[in-house]
Amino acid sequence: MVRKHSEQLFRAAREVIPGGVNSPVRAFNGVGGSPVFIHRGEGAYLFDEDDNRYIDYVGSWGPLILGHGDPDVRARIHAAVDQGTSFGAPTAVEIELAQKVCELMPSIEQVRMVSSGTEATMSAIRLARGFTGRDLIVKFEGCYHGHVDSLLVKVGSGALTLGVPSSPGVPAAVTENTLTLPYNDLAAVQECFAAQGERIACIIVEPVAGNMNCVPPCASFLEGLRTVCDEHGSLLIFDEVMTGFRVALGGAQALYGVRPDLTTLGKIIGGGMPVGAFGGRRDVMQHIAPAGPVYQAGTLSGNPVAMAAGLATLEKIAVDGFHEQLTARTTRLLDGLATAARESGIAMTTNQVGAMFGLFFTDQTRVARFDEVMKCDVERFQRFFHAMLERGVYLAPSAFEAGFVSAAHTDADIDATVQAAREVFLAGC
Ligand code: PMP
Repeated sequence: MVRKHSEQLFRAAREVIPGGVNSPVRAFNGVGGSPVFIHRGEGAYLFDEDDNRYIDYVGSWGPLILGHGDPDVRARIHAAVDQGTSFGAPTAVEIELAQKVCELMPSIEQVRMVSSGTEATMSAIRLARGFTGRDLIVKFEGCYHGHVDSLLVKVGSGALTLGVPSSPGVPAAVTENTLTLPYNDLAAVQECFAAQGERIACIIVEPVAGNMNCVPPCASFLEGLRTVCDEHGSLLIFDEVMTGFRVALGGAQALYGVRPDLTTLGKIIGGGMPVGAFGGRRDVMQHIAPAGPVYQAGTLSGNPVAMAAGLATLEKIAVDGFHEQLTARTTRLLDGLATAARESGIAMTTNQVGAMFGLFFTDQTRVARFDEVMKCDVERFQRFFHAMLERGVYLAPSAFEAGFVSAAHTDADIDATVQAAREVFLAGC
C-alpha cells in the first residue's frame, strides 16, 4: 500500500507541530512507522490522503458509535451552524442534551457541559474535593482520565505507550494527594481506606478500563468501591468518558448496576464534536458555580453545534436493540479473530464489553490486571498492527488502547477483517 502523501505530510507536520501530531498516540510511536493522514471518513471506513481505504476500529477513539458522517448527525450539525456557531449565552439545545443525559443515566440529576473529557474529570475532582472538604483522591494504575495534573500518575493510554506514565512538569506537591492503587484489587482499596479513608475525597475509576487496552471490572469490584465510599463519606466517580453510551445505553453503571455519585462523560456525548460533561447527585452538583462556590467555567462550553451533534447521536442510539446488535457484531469480530489465531497456533486472548474490545497476544487465559496487560507481547502486536494496516484494517496504533465497533460496520466488514487477520496469523504474525 502506497502512503506517499501521508509521509510527505508527516514531514511537514513535524516542522510546525511537536511530533507532527496534536495528540501523542496518533504519531504511531506505539507501533513504529509513519502515521496515516486521513482525508475523509464514510461509515465504517477511513480514506487516507493517498485514497487508501481502511475499515476503522478506532472511531476517533470512541465518539463515532454511528460511524463516520452519519447523515442525521450531519444534518443537525449543518442546521445548527446556519444559526450561528457560538453565543456564550444559554441556548435551548443545552437543556435538551442535559435532559437526555439525565434520562439515560439516572444517577445524573444535574449535569454541566464542558469541551473535553479532561475538563470533565478535572472539574469532577475539584467538585469532589470542594464538596467533601478533603484533599486526597484515589485512582488506579493504568487508568487514564485525561491530562489533568493531579491524575497524571501511573496512567494508561498515550503516556503508557510512550513509557512516561507519570509526566515531568507535574510538581510532586500536586500528585502527593493522589493515591494510586492496582485496578481490580478491592483488598488494596479497603486497606487504603482503613488507613486514611476519612481524608479521601473520592475514588475516580474507569468502570471498564479502556486505556490499558480493554480490561473489564472483576465481579464485585465496582460494588466494593461503592461500599467503601459509603463507609467513609467519600464520593465515587465513574469516568465514563469512554464507556458512557457505549457498553450499554446507560453506560457501565447500567451494565453493572452500580450508582456512582458523579459521572464524567466525553466522546459519544459530542457525536464527534468536542464535548465533555460531568454530572451526578443534585446536592453535590449544587456546589458548582454559580449555584455554589466551586468554580468551573468555559467560553465554548455548551457550544450549540456540538450540542446538536451530541443530541442527534444520543437520540439515534436510544432505540431498542441498538446496543444488543452492536455487541453481537463485536462478538462476531472477536470470535472470528480468536478462531483464526487458534487455528494458526498464535497465543491470543480477547476481552469484550459491549462494543468495546481488547486483543492481547499472550498465553494467559485471562487479562484482568495491569501487570497481566504488561506481560503481553507488544512486539507481536506491532507486527499485527502493520500487517492489518497493509490489508486495509485500521486498529488503534498501540497495544494499550481499546478498540471500538460502530453501527456502520456490517457483517461483511467484520468478516473481511477476520479474513485479513487469518492471513496475517497464517504467515506467523
Ligand atoms: N477519561 C477517559 C476514560 C478517557 O478514555 C479519556 C480519553 N481517551 C479521557 C478521560 C480524556 O478525554 P479527552 O481526550 O477528551 O480530554
